[in-house]
Amino acid sequence: VGDSADYDREVKSVCPYCGVGCQLSFKIKDDKIAWVDGVDGPANENRLCVKGRFGFDYIDHPHRLTTPLIRRDDAPAKGLNVDPANLSTHFREATWDEALDAAANGLRGRGAEIAGLGSAKCSNEEAYLFQKLIRQAFKHNNVDHCTRLCHASSVAALLENVGSGAVTATFNEIENADVAILIGCNPAENHPVAASYFKQFTKRGGKLIIMDPRGQAMKRHAEHMLQFRPGTDVAMLNAIMNVIVEEGLYDEQYIKGYTENWEAMKTHLADFPPEKMAELCGIDAQTLRVVAREFAGAKAGMIFWGMGISQHIHGTDNSRCLISLALMTGQIGRPGAGLHPLRGQNNVQGASDAGLIPMFLPDYQSVEDDGVRSAFTEVWKSDDFSNQKGLTTVEMIDAIDAGQVKGMYILGENPAMSDPDVEHARAAFAKLDCMVVQDIFLTETANFADVIFPASAWAEKTGTATNTNRQVQMGRPAVSPPGDAREDWWITTELAKRLGLNWDYTHPKQVFNEMKQNMKSLDNITWERLEQAAVTYPSLSPTDPGQPIVFGDGFPRSDGRARFTPAQVTAPAEVPDADFPMILTTGRQLEHWHTGSMTRRASVLDWAEPEANASLHPKTLRKMGVKAGDMITIETRRGAIQIMARADRAVSEDMVFVPFAYVEASANVLTNPKLDPYGKIPEFKFAACRVAPAEQA
Ligand code: SF4
Repeated sequence: VGDSADYDREVKSVCPYCGVGCQLSFKIKDDKIAWVDGVDGPANENRLCVKGRFGFDYIDHPHRLTTPLIRRDDAPAKGLNVDPANLSTHFREATWDEALDAAANGLRGRGAEIAGLGSAKCSNEEAYLFQKLIRQAFKHNNVDHCTRLCHASSVAALLENVGSGAVTATFNEIENADVAILIGCNPAENHPVAASYFKQFTKRGGKLIIMDPRGQAMKRHAEHMLQFRPGTDVAMLNAIMNVIVEEGLYDEQYIKGYTENWEAMKTHLADFPPEKMAELCGIDAQTLRVVAREFAGAKAGMIFWGMGISQHIHGTDNSRCLISLALMTGQIGRPGAGLHPLRGQNNVQGASDAGLIPMFLPDYQSVEDDGVRSAFTEVWKSDDFSNQKGLTTVEMIDAIDAGQVKGMYILGENPAMSDPDVEHARAAFAKLDCMVVQDIFLTETANFADVIFPASAWAEKTGTATNTNRQVQMGRPAVSPPGDAREDWWITTELAKRLGLNWDYTHPKQVFNEMKQNMKSLDNITWERLEQAAVTYPSLSPTDPGQPIVFGDGFPRSDGRARFTPAQVTAPAEVPDADFPMILTTGRQLEHWHTGSMTRRASVLDWAEPEANASLHPKTLRKMGVKAGDMITIETRRGAIQIMARADRAVSEDMVFVPFAYVEASANVLTNPKLDPYGKIPEFKFAACRVAPAEQA
């Protein structure tokens, strides 16, 4: 950091990393970002974490893509084999016209043979344009993004049971709570500024109950830490709810006034007494009873969750349990009460709201509804498109294998790192006739591209983003894109024109105004308002800053009531056995963001966490005759990686944790592609594995 003499100008914008959506100020000197400060945004009140404060110099990295590229006719076979410092072995530089024409020629007229992956790292307007392009140009719904790998199961359960896929209360509402549950999330690493509010909550006497198979830094602040056995979420949560029923701790008046299916839920829960579930979930019955009483007895209680809940084949059931727990205790729709899935990417909420999903148009309006489709085609001045749900992220890979998908347009996503069983995904990408990738770096996915469009980083573009709190915020360009790189909305528009579409956008504001025509969530929110300040949706009037808490007077379901949906215990898709006796779980680290394409090129962050590592309990390492820092081999039924061992008492003795940011030891070589049947999310949090010293593998 410096003082005002050290910069020429400042630009206020939003952090490009996590869903907290911290507002920040870029300090610019000689047209480069010199440093970053937090500003007083609604979610962060001047705070930033290490990524927001120090993780910005990736935008000046020498590997930035600066000119359109086309695969050379004499390029080697497609694979993970391009040196980002020497692209000319595989690609030739092209003009924008050449590259856009090549992409359009490869994709045009192929209907459902084309699939698209848009980005939660782009703006709302860019997400909207991307889904519109797939639907308007190819007449179907094969469009998705990384929500499918993140909170798709949480959204499925929320839509089913409360009628809305977003949070019911901002995370900042914890200041009005007296009890909060954090389950399957690690906010100190993944939502650090939100974690600072959670710590403040405990300092003023709030009770934090953490439930997670892995220990974490927030444990120090918790009243209870329930380190339950991985994959037993439903058993544990049903046992807690059983206590609430058996001891009459539920909120009868709330249940009568605002819910349905309570009697079925009560009957279902009778099968889950804590004494019966204790051994399965690894938490003693008395602790389950104490936790149930504390949450049910709270004046105001909140439930926060992350991908430890969602990334299971029973992720939707896990979320259903959390929703039921909040409903039966009446902990929703009031100050300090509510449900909050902590969203991952900076704009995953907004990209989902904007319709970047295969079953919904913007605002979660079903593609199967004729009236909904006709409302959109009227605005788009185009023909109808398919009334069938499209392919989800992982289903697209299987469809390539089956010869159904032959071309892809991928914007700002890196599925060659982020998909489960990733060697399978990489092999599938190599089979595509036409793969168009739009990104800021030659990602692992771009290795397989036929055409590459150089795009803009977040700090180089104009557009809105929606954070985990439903706060819509304006992102502003601090510096210019390098070389011939362009803003994503411009690239998508130019491609659309070459695909024969009647698009004439010249600024994201036009796109935003079009979105408002069929998105009630944006009522009373204007571009001009967003230029002044963030607005939380829903906003009830042109001057209302928005509603931090929703559903105090009923739910957006047909009968206005939320629903209890009972959840049965389901085992993980793959359980440990004699061949693969340990449990693999994967996730993020504080310093690295998702597949690492940005943070591994951010000098401070890469300095802090430079090497791939796997966390194992010290006793497990000792049993294996391995020291921290030694190389180990981790193997599952999909493949094997070699990685450095790290001693970590936060993992249990039968577990290994691997972050997924490192291409040299890709965690997703190991993960299981089995999907949750509702959210279609893979089971990243549980696979059977074996671990050995590297030399014995
Ligand atoms: Fe950025 Fe999230 Fe850190 Fe805030 S908490 S600075 S949004 S990474």
